[in-house]
Amino acid sequence: MSSLTLAGAAQILRPPRDGLSCLRGEDLRGQTTAAGDLTIAEGRIAALACDPRAEVTVDARGCAVVPGFVDCHTHLPFAGWRADEYEQKLTGVPYEEIARGGGGIRASARALAQSGDEEILGQSQAVAAEMLAAGTTTFECKSGYGLSRDGELRALRLAAELDARVPQTTLCTALLAHAVPDGFTADEWMGEVEAMMPEVLELGTVSALDIFVESIAFANAHLELMGELATAAGLALRCHVEQFGGHRSVPVALRAGARSADHLCTLRNEDIAPLAAAPCAAVLLPAAEFLGAEHRAPARALIDAGAIVALATDGNPGTAPVFAMPTVLGLAARLYGLSAAEAFGMATLNGAWTLHLAHDRGSIEVGKRADLLLLDGPIEHVAYRFARDPVAIALIGGEPAYVRDDAAARRLGRVGA
Ligand SMILES: [Zn+2]
Repeated sequence: MSSLTLAGAAQILRPPRDGLSCLRGEDLRGQTTAAGDLTIAEGRIAALACDPRAEVTVDARGCAVVPGFVDCHTHLPFAGWRADEYEQKLTGVPYEEIARGGGGIRASARALAQSGDEEILGQSQAVAAEMLAAGTTTFECKSGYGLSRDGELRALRLAAELDARVPQTTLCTALLAHAVPDGFTADEWMGEVEAMMPEVLELGTVSALDIFVESIAFANAHLELMGELATAAGLALRCHVEQFGGHRSVPVALRAGARSADHLCTLRNEDIAPLAAAPCAAVLLPAAEFLGAEHRAPARALIDAGAIVALATDGNPGTAPVFAMPTVLGLAARLYGLSAAEAFGMATLNGAWTLHLAHDRGSIEVGKRADLLLLDGPIEHVAYRFARDPVAIALIGGEPAYVRDDAAARRLGRVGA
């Protein structure tokens, strides 16, 4: 279809003004949820008004219209799950011990190596379908379970293949330093990473480099080096930092020009203001914090200091087998003390900013891509009715990509559907 009107919505979530590339502090709080209508033409938001000439009129009464979720931190594609480890963790075995015992990232690396491409893609497509039903219209993929030169390149090729198979937009991050592969020191592996960069770039699908800085993984010096590789390649730098240990990695990340610093559970107070002042997103992952009983990231302090705070799932088979953004919003609201508008802004425009997509999506503005959700109630119900599925219809590029049930189909005028 080329035109569609959402008529009579109870809420349309809008930024405080047009043209913002991200929502910091007061702008996050200043989003509005007035009732209204919205018209889509040629895949983009054409007007914040009804168009009686539109080919399809969607009955949006009682609904909230919000941007599709932008999940800027996932570890798709991967093979298998690690439910046994979760049980170990619940019964008191520390993550670092599980990792040293061959579990953790290494377990997923073995599963990836032992699985065929179709098996991995099939599982990942099924997860992507769950994500769409939960409202995610754009998500990031990462490599990182390859743990060898060939393995990492294969993971990046699988991510590109997944992109071709799912209705969502995906972006690909090369998490080339996730765990130190057997037979290497961290320094030696970074040499290997440097050597494989031409092959990584040749794929033409990678938009960012990523690294896990932790006592069981890589150090700040390696983060600095990854930053140099990213700069030389014209790629963004992402980093997993301050998850467990507190290694003061944020100043290093900022000097390296990182686009985001992710996790931040053990972020030091003195690093909040510099991060908040930088063009660097603080990507918070409350599902990992909750399921891992980790420290809590200082979300409120970061928001109040004016940081670009984003929410994402961290969807992965180990520390956060969670892919539903409404669940993440519910956790974030409770754990961090967020209003509904704050949580939505962090999960939409700020996620899009992190992925360099804010000019195109992530907020409801005329001209932006019509990746939109019709929620079956007000935005305040998403965190409150915790872990419930609120998405009636998900539009991608103005087309219905997900329609939950007959009631949702009737809103689209699909009589008898
Ligand atoms: Zn992660």
